[in-house]
Amino acid sequence: MARSDYEAVIGLEVHAELSTKTKIFCSCPTEFGALPNTHTCPICMAMPGTLPVLNEKVVEYAVKAGLATNCEISRNSKNDRKNYYYPDLPKSYQISQYDKPLCENGEVEIETKNGKKTIRIERIHIEEDAGKLNHDDFGGGSLVDLNRAGVPLIETVSKPDMRSAEEAEAYLRKLKSIFEYIEVSDCKMQEGSLRADVNVSVHKPGEPLGTRTEMKNMNSFRSIVRAIEYEIDRQIDLIEDGGTVTQETLRWDDVSGKTFPMRDKEDAQDYRYFPDPDLVAIKLSEEYIENIKQGLPELPESRKQRYLEEYNLSEKDAKLITSSKYLSDLFEGAIKVCNNPKAVNNWIISDISRILNETEMEPIEIPFDSKQLGKLVVLIDKGTISSSIGKKVLTELFENPRDPEDIIKEKGWIQISDEGAIKEVVTKILEANPQSIADYKAGKDKALGFLVGQAMKETKGKANPQMLNKMFLEELNK
Ligand code: ADP
Ligand code: ZN
Ligand code: MG
Repeated sequence: MARSDYEAVIGLEVHAELSTKTKIFCSCPTEFGALPNTHTCPICMAMPGTLPVLNEKVVEYAVKAGLATNCEISRNSKNDRKNYYYPDLPKSYQISQYDKPLCENGEVEIETKNGKKTIRIERIHIEEDAGKLNHDDFGGGSLVDLNRAGVPLIETVSKPDMRSAEEAEAYLRKLKSIFEYIEVSDCKMQEGSLRADVNVSVHKPGEPLGTRTEMKNMNSFRSIVRAIEYEIDRQIDLIEDGGTVTQETLRWDDVSGKTFPMRDKEDAQDYRYFPDPDLVAIKLSEEYIENIKQGLPELPESRKQRYLEEYNLSEKDAKLITSSKYLSDLFEGAIKVCNNPKAVNNWIISDISRILNETEMEPIEIPFDSKQLGKLVVLIDKGTISSSIGKKVLTELFENPRDPEDIIKEKGWIQISDEGAIKEVVTKILEANPQSIADYKAGKDKALGFLVGQAMKETKGKANPQMLNKMFLEELNK
C-alpha cells in the first residue's frame, strides 16, 4: 500500500501553568527561577497532617480558559486524587480532576494552508504540578526541587481531530495565543509553562482509529512537528512491514531525530482515582460564570478583525501580529507613539519577525518595549535617520535596549541631510565612476541606483537617500 493510503490522527493534552501569584493549595509563590526548595511549605512538601485549601484564582482562570475556548462550564465540579509513586510527587498522589472537570466540550478554530478547521476540546481540568528532579549536576545522584510542586495547571485535552503535524502546530499556537490574551498563563515554553503530550496514530480513512503512541512533555514547536512527522512514518513503516503499533509512551530525542520507548512511571497504570476527601466540591453560580464571561478581554480573532478595519492591514499581516498578544501589544503601543500603523506593521512582519525566527525567540522575550519601537519609527519619519540606519537601531534594540535617540547619538548615526555634505559625496562618487555616468547617459537607468548605493556605502548609510537621488539626477542631467 502507498503511504498516501494512510491518514494520521493526532490528539494533544496541553498543560499550561497558570500565572496566579500563589500555588493551588497553599500560599507559596509560583514564580519561576528561585533557588531550589525556597518556595515550599509543609503543604506543598506533603507533611503529614497538612490540609490543602483551593486557590479561588485557579478556578477563575480555568473558567476563563473554558469560556475563551467555547467550553461548557460545570456548575458542579470536584477534585480527585490521581495516585502514583514518583520522587517528584511528595504526596504520592496528584490532586487533579477525573470525571467532573471544570470545562467540557469546547472548540477552537485553526487555519492552515488547507483552510479553516474546527478542533474539538474534550475537557479542561485543573491540577497541581509536580516537583522537578535534577539529574545532571550532582555526580550520578538526583536532587528534588519542590518549588514547582503545587503550581497550578490547566490541562486541555483535545479530541483526536488533527490530521497532520501542521494542524497540531496550528492548534497549539492557537491555544497558546488564547491563553496569553486572557492572561491565565505566560505560556513560556522554554520555562515549561506550556507543554504538550502528543498522541499519534495512523489508520486508513474509513477504518477505526489505530493504536496511538504518546510523547510526553514536549515544549518546542519545532520538536513537536519533527516528532509527529517521524512517528507517522515509523508507524506506517511498521504496519507495512506486517507489524502492529503498541500503545506506549515514547521519548522524542531531538539529537537523533527519533522516538524511543520509555519505560516510565505512567505506562498502563491504574491511578485509582477517587474524590479528594480534604477538599469540598466546587460549585459555581450562574452569576459567577456570567461575571467572568463579561470580563473576558478582546480575543485574537476579533482583534484581527479590528486591525483589518481600523488600520487597513492585510489579512496575512493582521493574522501574524494578532497571533501573539505580545506582538499585538507591541504594535498598538508603538502606534500610540508614532501614529504610523503602516510602518510599525512593516517592522513587525519583516525585520522583527525575521530576528525572532533566526534567534528562535518568542515574542514575549523581545527585550525592548513598544515606546522604543514607536520612537524608532518617529526618527525615520522625521528624517533624522534613514531606514537602513533604522535596521541597525533595531539590532541594537534587540542587543541592548535603550532610547533610540540615545543610540543614534552615541553611535553617530544621525542622517546627513545637509545640502553641502550631500553635494560633496555626490561629486566624489561621480568622479570615481565615469563608467556609470556614461551608462546612465546611454539610457541605463540602473546606473543611478548603483551611484546612490555607492554614496550610501561611502557615508555608512547615513546620507539621506531622497536627497542623494535628487542631487545625482541633477548632476547627471546637466
Ligand atoms: P489518556 O488520558 O490515557 O492519555 P485519553 O483517552 O484521555 O487518554 O486521550 C488522550 C489524548 O489522546 C486525547 O487528546 C485524545 O484526543 C488522544 N487520542 C485518543 N485516541 C487517539 C488515537 N487513536 N490517535 C491519536 N490520538 C488519540
Ligand atoms: Zn507551599
Ligand atoms: Mg495521556
